Amino acid sequence: CGIVGYVGDRPSQQILLNGLRRLEYRGYDSAGIAVIDAEGALHERKRAGKLQTLVDDLAAHPMADGTTGIGHTRWATHGAPTDANAHPHLADNGRLALIHNGIIENFTELKDELLAEGVEFRSETDSEVAAHLIAREYRRVGDLEAAFRAVVGRLDGAFTLLAIHADQPGVIVGARLNSPLVIGLGEGENFLGSDVAAFVEHTHSAIAVGQAQMVVVRADSIEITTFDGEPAEGEPFEVTWDAAA
Ligand code: GLU
Repeated sequence: CGIVGYVGDRPSQQILLNGLRRLEYRGYDSAGIAVIDAEGALHERKRAGKLQTLVDDLAAHPMADGTTGIGHTRWATHGAPTDANAHPHLADNGRLALIHNGIIENFTELKDELLAEGVEFRSETDSEVAAHLIAREYRRVGDLEAAFRAVVGRLDGAFTLLAIHADQPGVIVGARLNSPLVIGLGEGENFLGSDVAAFVEHTHSAIAVGQAQMVVVRADSIEITTFDGEPAEGEPFEVTWDAAA
């Protein structure tokens, strides 16, 4: 339902939680975040219920912070609102984390393919197939962008996807089809969001990612391409509404 991403030089947990707070107006039933720490380990926490449940859980049981992270509020379409079905979804032995807005219409056939290979699923969501498909490619090609690109064309339906991998701290890979994705441009840091509310307190300089485009976002660079890897341009715009709204 709501998506936020951060890559820069600041600890990301609070930035992600604030972004999710601003996305609450969309409605949701679960929330979760994943960050990559300075040692290259990925940490994830997700909880069914209000964002405050996740915030309280993180306060009671602190998790290592990191300067690359993704966050999600879920509006369940496939699978009940439970902790396990909340996003992010992990794969590659907990080294890859993925969040998804929308519905992957052909997830059943993709899931059957993965189940036949012995992949174990931890959720009932359509989203988790994308995490395992990217992880499977990652084991082949050893690069998150290439792995993501190999998968994204196989997914039907509507999706905004963001993924991070512990082996590649400092990179968020994303894509969108029939679902929005916006980049927020900072100084030495960049943001991603399902809408500008996710990052409006940090920057008003934004780029709308186009239909069927992929992005690779680092603290100091943004690359936008088609799913096939052709260079593409997003649509730059200035956020005009008040950050306090
Ligand atoms: N279809 C996914 C799920 O049920 C994502 C829902 C959403 O957009 O929040 O988990």
